[in-house]
Amino acid sequence: MAKKSKGRRSQWIMIWFYPLIAIGGLFYPLLGYLMLVMMLFLIIYAYFKARYWCGNLCPRGAFLDIVMPHFTRDRPYPRLFTRKWFRWGIFGLFMSVFISRLTATGGNLIAMGGVFVSMCVITSLIAIPLGIAMRPRAWCAFCPMGTLQESLGKIGQRQRKHNEVKRLFWYCASVT
Ligand code: SF4
Repeated sequence: MAKKSKGRRSQWIMIWFYPLIAIGGLFYPLLGYLMLVMMLFLIIYAYFKARYWCGNLCPRGAFLDIVMPHFTRDRPYPRLFTRKWFRWGIFGLFMSVFISRLTATGGNLIAMGGVFVSMCVITSLIAIPLGIAMRPRAWCAFCPMGTLQESLGKIGQRQRKHNEVKRLFWYCASVT
C-alpha cells in the first residue's frame, strides 16, 4: 500500500504554482517567467542552504510529496540515477536544449516564456511516470536543478568553513 504524505505547510502553498505554470502557462506563456524567478532564487539560496528549496519550496517537489504517494508503486529507483556522471550528463543535456531553445526565440518575450513552460511540461512528463513506477521523488535523484543546488551548497559550505578558519587564524594572531 502506498505511503500517504501530508506535506509541509510551505509545500501546500507552493504546490499551486505547479499547475499554474504547467497548465496555465500553455494558455498564457508569460507565466513561464515564474520559473525563471524560482530558478534564480534557488541558485542564490542553494549557496547558503543547499537543497532546502527541494524539501520545502519547490512546487514540483511539493506535488511529488503530496499527490504522488497516492499513485506510486513505491519501488526503488536504479542506482544509475544517483551516479555523478549520469546526473551531470542530464544537467548538460537539459541546459544545452534549454539554452538553444531560448536562443532560437530571437528574444521574443512570449516565446521565451513558452520555453520555460515547455521545459516544465517536458520534465513533468518524465517526473510523473517515474514517480508512479518507482518512488514519488525518483525524478529528484537526477533533476538538473537538484544537482546544481547540491553542488552550490557544497561550495557555499566549503567557503564558509574556509572563512571561519581564516577568521580564527587572524583572531589567534591578534591575541598572541
Ligand atoms: S530536485 Fe528538482 S524537482 Fe525535485 S524538488 Fe528539487 S528542484 Fe524540485
